[in-house]
Amino acid sequence: SKINVALIFGGKSGEHEVSLLSAASICKHINRDKYNVFTIGITKEGRWMFYDGNEENIKNGSWVDLANQNVEINLIPSGNKEVGLKFEDGRVEKIDVLFPVLHGPYGEDGTIQGLFEISQIPYVGCGVLASSVGMDKLICKKVFSQIGLPQVDYTYTNRWEFNTNKDQELNNIEEKLNYPIFVKPANLGSSVGISKATNREELLVGIEEALKYDSRIVLEKGINAREIEVAVIGNEEVKASIAGEIKPAKDFYDYEDKYINGASTYDIPANIKTEDMEDIRRMAIEAFKGIDGKGLSRVDFFIDKDSGEIFINEINTLPGFTNISMYPKMWEATGLEYPKLIDRLIGLALDSKK
Ligand code: ADP
Ligand code: MG
Ligand code: MG
Repeated sequence: SKINVALIFGGKSGEHEVSLLSAASICKHINRDKYNVFTIGITKEGRWMFYDGNEENIKNGSWVDLANQNVEINLIPSGNKEVGLKFEDGRVEKIDVLFPVLHGPYGEDGTIQGLFEISQIPYVGCGVLASSVGMDKLICKKVFSQIGLPQVDYTYTNRWEFNTNKDQELNNIEEKLNYPIFVKPANLGSSVGISKATNREELLVGIEEALKYDSRIVLEKGINAREIEVAVIGNEEVKASIAGEIKPAKDFYDYEDKYINGASTYDIPANIKTEDMEDIRRMAIEAFKGIDGKGLSRVDFFIDKDSGEIFINEINTLPGFTNISMYPKMWEATGLEYPKLIDRLIGLALDSKK
């Protein structure tokens, strides 16, 4: 019999729209002979609703108005209720595997993974620990440096320390790093709240802006970077794809370029030295294992255009997943096509069932 997959999309995150595109793409390409797909949308306000309709309406956001509000989504084992989806006629569909197609806060940061653990239903992707570590740029840097992965110089500040003595904090930062300096909220993605400062005034503005998003701020030495990405898959036996290169259209790969005008281009495989390709693939697996990754992640690197040095930038535990996103594209180039990739990820979730 078929496997019941619940695809969860949308979410209370700045990356809601990207998630809609990823989910629509999975709906379109998943093997329907093997899987029954139930789609559950989460609105921007954080309300869960069952919407079992066509992909176009997921993509364009109209699913919110078309959702069936009477279907109960029971994920918490309680009383004599069955965990699963309860329809108006009383029928309950058991969920065999949950597939979160969510990015950013509440989807990629371990919170929903905690709910899934409690539901006792297997789920695609990283667990609570890897998700939350991967989402927090500061903690992640500490893990990466502990396992010996090369990173650009960095420091940090927080709201309380910064507001207590701004001049002193700015002095400390300038003592540790030369301009340009990248300013990043510790806990977001999609370039939200990130800026590049080339002098003290911009640094001050950048930190104040970043503090709107998080109370902890990471500051990094800005380099002249080539941006290399690798897709990783597996639970115990972990594999890395061929690496690709993103070529941002602007000074850096910002939100607009990522999701609005999409003016950047890419090369898969990245046109880099064979030894760099090997190092990057090896380090991607080390980073994934280092945070206790499961299922999938996209690991992003920089190659310094001036020195040729490789640095790890970040790990994304639920990367963009449309059929034209880097994660699936890099697998395709490595010989794993999109529908097979979906199948493999669900298989890994079912395998990891304790
Ligand atoms: P996000 O998680 O939001 O994608 P990143 O840390 O990847 O955040 O930063 C977003 C983009 O900013 C990167 O893709 C890159 O273009 C640029 N960037 C970030 N840090 C640096 C750095 N230290 N030097 C040069 N460019 C950087
Ligand atoms: Mg990120
Ligand atoms: Mg990034």
